[in-house]
Amino acid sequence: MLTDYHLHLRPDEVGKAEEYFIQENVERYLAAAEEQGIEELGVSEHVYRFAESLELWDHSYWRDQAKDDLGAYCEFVRTTPLRLGLEADYIRGAEDRIASMLDEHDFDYVVGSVHFIGEKGAVDDQRYDVWESFPDADSLWRTYFEWQAELVRSGLFDIVSHPDLVKMWGDGRPAPERDPRFHYEPFVEAIAESEIAVEISTAGLRKPVGEIYPARALAEMCREAGAEFALSSDAHAPDQIGFGYDEAMKFLDDLGVERICVFEGRSRRLEPIGRTGVDPDEIADREGAGG
Ligand SMILES: [Zn+2]
Ligand SMILES: [Zn+2]
Repeated sequence: MLTDYHLHLRPDEVGKAEEYFIQENVERYLAAAEEQGIEELGVSEHVYRFAESLELWDHSYWRDQAKDDLGAYCEFVRTTPLRLGLEADYIRGAEDRIASMLDEHDFDYVVGSVHFIGEKGAVDDQRYDVWESFPDADSLWRTYFEWQAELVRSGLFDIVSHPDLVKMWGDGRPAPERDPRFHYEPFVEAIAESEIAVEISTAGLRKPVGEIYPARALAEMCREAGAEFALSSDAHAPDQIGFGYDEAMKFLDDLGVERICVFEGRSRRLEPIGRTGVDPDEIADREGAGG
């Protein structure tokens, strides 16, 4: 089986729920998944697109975005074949409020993310660039992975998303001087003590860094720590469904991972990795042709 769980039904900052949370749009995503042999699709809208998120964190970016109703989103997704997920930011100090919000809805899974390191800024958004708040790359990387470790230890989430998002800008930002494995360490320790799944996200292939999240060395450390993995594209449009999955499957194969996490009602099982109902060579030809 293949899954694509971390996906969005509309581009960031674009569009109202009533334009994108409609059956026709879901059909486009499902058709793209079927073509790729991806058996299970779930949607995980950003928590900050919902008015309820302002109870978790009052930030100007969130205030601009927080328009939708979380209950209406959950109800809509339940009228479709999609699994019901949410991409929820880890907000230090808001753990209890995050827990109550998540408890109010019957999610199949919750994806936990660190985009903002609190008021210091965002690792993936130039308008709130976190790099201006840190003296050097090593202090930022250390802090980023400490936040990721806290996210894991909070026990609030089923999947830790884009585990090394801090690398997103690639050569566009300074690299740490220390071996990155030194910075991964606290995060991997938390992984070892937790049941959370580690996301293999092909979104990094579309970003300046041009590689899968997590880096190979981090994935190996997670594997040694006993982690299981979840597979996603972080698509924001139907044509990004399953993006780079051949590379991701090779990545997992090289790690010796044969099964991925499948979620329902916030419990998980493991299923063997593989496309469903399509000829793999046909997919490879299509991707090779730039499709
Ligand atoms: Zn994200
Ligand atoms: Zn996302």
